[in-house]
Amino acid sequence: MSNSRILPEFELLVPQSVSEAVDMAAQYGDKAAVLAGGTDLLIMLQKGSATSEYVIAMGEIEGLDYIKYGKADGLRIGALTTITRMVDNNTVKKNYPALWQACKQHSAPQIRNIATTLGNVMRASPSGDCSCALLALGAAVMLESKNGRREVPMDDFFINYGKTARKVDEIAVEIVIPPVQNGVVSSFMRMTRTNFDLSKVNVAVQLDLSGKTCNEARIAVGAVAPTTIRIKKAEALLKGVKINDALLEKIASVVSKEIKPIDDVRSTAEYRRDVSAVLVRRAIKACL
Ligand SMILES: Cc1cc2nc3c(=O)[nH]c(=O)nc-3n(C[C@H](O)[C@H](O)[C@H](O)COP(=O)(O)OP(=O)(O)OC[C@H]3O[C@@H](n4cnc5c(N)ncnc54)[C@H](O)[C@@H]3O)c2cc1C
Repeated sequence: MSNSRILPEFELLVPQSVSEAVDMAAQYGDKAAVLAGGTDLLIMLQKGSATSEYVIAMGEIEGLDYIKYGKADGLRIGALTTITRMVDNNTVKKNYPALWQACKQHSAPQIRNIATTLGNVMRASPSGDCSCALLALGAAVMLESKNGRREVPMDDFFINYGKTARKVDEIAVEIVIPPVQNGVVSSFMRMTRTNFDLSKVNVAVQLDLSGKTCNEARIAVGAVAPTTIRIKKAEALLKGVKINDALLEKIASVVSKEIKPIDDVRSTAEYRRDVSAVLVRRAIKACL
């Protein structure tokens, strides 16, 4: 009989480099799970919602906990960079406010100290706060296998609930976010019962306000579909226009119609529909 307090048996593999981790992923394929902070994976293994004969624990690989910013390359976040490091980083705070706010509002200090930003994305939970912000920021995930590296845009990364474009022989090594441009602003908001809970709904918006009108918009909403999604119809309404209250009302109504929320332990579909619209409107206002 399964007991949700006890971890099932698995063989723990402890690579000392990314290339060793990649070799292990190639050798064990779908029999292996990758462990970063473990705040999702260990619970999934305990509950039986994931099974794995092997666990590739990344924790001893040195130098993977970086946050690097360059004007040409943008922001690069290593696979072992914790949420706490993100919150403490002024470059993230100044240049990517949506991501900084998502990290700041993520869980509680104990979890933030071990949970990673990339682990949040790889879990592919529709309520992932970093996932939501990163989708709005147009980020990509860098995957490495024995065949080399490939960069997958977040737009193509989430396939279904808990499922990403990562192949079983690949290790995710970093998140890449395009460099910030003048006039591009972003914002993140979420609604939860208490801060320790996962989001009932989360929203991130990035607007290019470098001209007299809004040049470009990206709107991501989480916990309203099997994956975090973009609301492209609302983005199209923002493109090339000046944003006013009447437009915000229209966008809110489009958001409510475009999402497909469900009732679950954290909230109802009806609540999620109403609150998504409100949060998108507020996040756009925060950008303005
Ligand atoms: C009490 C509690 C509160 C929480 N609150 C929040 C919250 O407020 N907001 C929120 O978004 N989440 C929350 N979470 C969920 C979790 O903390 C986050 O999703 C976290 O960011 C996951 O990071 P991790 O390093 O712990 O990932 P892990 O648990 O190590 O891994 C998560 C998934 O990613 C895969 N993975 C990890 N690294 C790699 C890699 N390098 N290559 C390939 N696959 C990889 C793992 O195999 C696993 O499937 C909470 C969890 C708990 C227990």
